[in-house]
Amino acid sequence: MQTAVRDRFLKHAPCRISADVPLAPYTSFKIGGPAALFAEPSTLSELRELLNLIRNEAVDSFYLGHGSNILISDEGFNGIVVRSCGELAAVKIHNNILESGPAAKLLKLTTFAAFHELSGLEPLSGIPGSVGGGLWMNAGAYGGEISNALIDVDVITPNDEMITLQAAEIGFGYRSAPLLQDKVILHSRFKLARGSKDSIYSEMRRVWRLRREKQPLEYPSAGSIFKRPAGDYAGRLIEAVNGKGVRIGGAMVPHKHAGIFINYDHATAEDVVQLIREIRQRVYDKFGILLENEVKPVGFKNDPFEIKS
Ligand SMILES: Cc1cc2nc3c(=O)[nH]c(=O)nc-3n(C[C@H](O)[C@H](O)[C@H](O)COP(=O)(O)OP(=O)(O)OC[C@H]3O[C@@H](n4cnc5c(N)ncnc54)[C@H](O)[C@@H]3O)c2cc1C
Repeated sequence: MQTAVRDRFLKHAPCRISADVPLAPYTSFKIGGPAALFAEPSTLSELRELLNLIRNEAVDSFYLGHGSNILISDEGFNGIVVRSCGELAAVKIHNNILESGPAAKLLKLTTFAAFHELSGLEPLSGIPGSVGGGLWMNAGAYGGEISNALIDVDVITPNDEMITLQAAEIGFGYRSAPLLQDKVILHSRFKLARGSKDSIYSEMRRVWRLRREKQPLEYPSAGSIFKRPAGDYAGRLIEAVNGKGVRIGGAMVPHKHAGIFINYDHATAEDVVQLIREIRQRVYDKFGILLENEVKPVGFKNDPFEIKS
């Protein structure tokens, strides 16, 4: 980023902004180089003003949620990373409808719902991202997806229009939300059903228990590296190519869960990239299946996970 552009942002940004900010601490993988600029809008008006500035200056930008589904390159991101906070992380309730800011933790959404005896979000318990990030990829687990309870969501389009999209028009699918991909996700509303506190909490505890039993939560990771291929499981395919225990540098396919690669010991992004490529190649060579990434690469020049197919 040009110094003059950087200085204009540092001077005129409507919110807290810093230069050369290490991104690893903002990711669940604990991997990645710095952002040239890191901005933290805490209100809708700050966010909109910041997005205008970004458009006027024509700099690359990346909208960061809670960093639990991304792999940031070792070089970092040579643009501006936007991470909402403050008012944009608020959750409110009106009867059986929850309204959430994009930066609210999914944990906050699920526990808030449970506290108010509202059922419908229990399967999301323990997913460590934000509501905005969850909607962007239609996060889900144990038979439920965030889109199941969604009524509508406010977004900012690439032309700076603020519009409301109904859940049905977004085209949600398995870990996909096509109409949201090029938009900034703002407040969203969820319709929930009245339930009993006991049964909601007991279902949440059941889901948490399953996660603790099956997932290598003691190591940094970004959750499932690959999407589930049609009619199969990435974990099963990886096991079948003797993927468990494979280690490249500090990145490893753990024995506990073949689908969740871990930062075992000070892994670099390059270690993870090489591990993903190695495993994708093995699965492709044996089964002819090209595993699709669930984790989004950020700050790489080309698709870092591409293999010979
Ligand atoms: C241990 C572990 C377990 C996990 N288990 C699951 C699971 O069971 N099911 C599941 O689906 N996922 C799971 N994940 C992955 C991850 O938690 C979810 O995908 C989560 O929804 C990502 O949200 P985030 O805020 O961290 O997004 P980030 O990783 O910060 O970003 C992901 C993408 O969303 C975009 N984005 C984020 N916020 C916005 C916004 N407001 N507007 C526009 N774009 C935005 C980003 O630009 C990026 O492209 C797991 C991760 C970990 C580490």
